[in-house]
Amino acid sequence: MVKSILVTAGPTREKIDPVRFISNYSTGTFGYELAREAGQRGCKVTLVSGPSGLTPPRGVKFISVETAEEMSRAIRKNPADCLIMAAAVCDWKAAKVSAKKLKKEGAIKTLRLKRNPDILKELGRRKRGLAVGFALETENLEKNAIKKLKDKNLDIIIANRLGKKKPLFGLNNIDIIIIDRRGIKERYKNSSKKTLSKIILDKVLNYNI
Ligand code: C5P
Repeated sequence: MVKSILVTAGPTREKIDPVRFISNYSTGTFGYELAREAGQRGCKVTLVSGPSGLTPPRGVKFISVETAEEMSRAIRKNPADCLIMAAAVCDWKAAKVSAKKLKKEGAIKTLRLKRNPDILKELGRRKRGLAVGFALETENLEKNAIKKLKDKNLDIIIANRLGKKKPLFGLNNIDIIIIDRRGIKERYKNSSKKTLSKIILDKVLNYNI
C-alpha cells in the first residue's frame, strides 16, 4: 500500500558559467498539484522541486534543488513507496562549468554538452515501490510513451502531447493518456491539472504493485 509519495516538479537548471544556464519552460504546476493532492489524501509527501515561482503546498516536506544531480541525490535520500517524476529534467549539462564568464566568441568554440543521468531510468532498474513517469511528446505520443514505460521500468506513464498552441508550457487545461504496465489506457481531454491530479492519485493509491 502506498503511504509515502515523493513528487518531483519544475525544470532543472544546469550551469554553464557564473551567469548562464541551460533550462526549459516547465512551470512545475502539475507536480505541485500532485503533491498537494497526495497531502490531502493523508500521504507523507516530499516535494523535490527545481526553480519555480510556486508556493509549496502546506504540510509537505519541501526540498529545493537546482540541477539534475541535486534532484537525483534528494530522491535517493528520501525513499518513498511511490515516486512521481513530474520534473522536466534537463537532458544535457555543460561538460565543464566555467569558473569565469565565457566570452561571446570563446563560448562558440569551447562550450560542450554532456548527457545528464536519466534519474528515472536508474531508479527503475532497482526500484522497490511504484514508479510514475511523464512523457511529453510532439509526435507518436502513445508509441513513445509505451516505449518509455518499458525502457524505464515504470508502472504508470502520463503521456502529454505538446500541441501547437501557445504557450506550450503553463497551460492549465491539457489532454493526457494514462497508460499502465498492464496496457490499460485512460484518455482525458481538456482537463485541469487539479482534476487530473485527483485521477492520478486515485490510480496510484489503488494500484496493486
Ligand atoms: O525520456 P524522457 O525525458 O522523455 O522521459 C521523461 C520522464 O523521465 C519524466 O518522468 C522525467 O521526469 C524523467 N527524466 C529523468 N531524468 C532525465 C530525463 C527525464 O528522470 N534525465
